Amino acid sequence: MRETKSGLYGVKELDKIINDFVKPFDCTASFSLDFAYYYADNDITYSLITTPKANHFFKKNLVDNYNFYMIKDDVDMFIFSLLHELGHHHTMDDISNTKWKVVNFKHWLVEKLYRLTNADCIYNKYFTLEDEWLATKWACNYWKTHINDIKKLKKVLVVAIQKFYSKNQIFLNPDFVEE
Ligand SMILES: [Zn+2]
Repeated sequence: MRETKSGLYGVKELDKIINDFVKPFDCTASFSLDFAYYYADNDITYSLITTPKANHFFKKNLVDNYNFYMIKDDVDMFIFSLLHELGHHHTMDDISNTKWKVVNFKHWLVEKLYRLTNADCIYNKYFTLEDEWLATKWACNYWKTHINDIKKLKKVLVVAIQKFYSKNQIFLNPDFVEE
């Protein structure tokens, strides 16, 4: 189920901004409930749902494992997540078919473990899965080498995201979202 746009204002504008950004990479992007990369379609899904706990661990992973400090707010986090999915697009083929079998199994295992235990340490296991590691490494490198493109994207995204929230009357209270 990737179709979520019915009834929401401002999705077209967001889709346009993000598709313009990913087009030079031969990718498309669409609004959804989560960030993901679909290998067969070269399609990225993006989401405006923020999960503070996941963001916290992801940022910590960037600092601890990649020495990366540039993410300061939610829009940065949104852009970085987008770059992470572009990173999957660029690094999928760096993993051999045989290795993919192992990687896919590890994904299944880590996700199952998280559902069973809800333990925070599983986040780190997830981030170090080979494909996740490579995608994030690509994203960090892109950010560092294309800072002006990031700034340009951020400028238009801030406006579009604010419009999205106000037009759809979505007012998030961060204290209310998660424990
Ligand atoms: Zn990923």
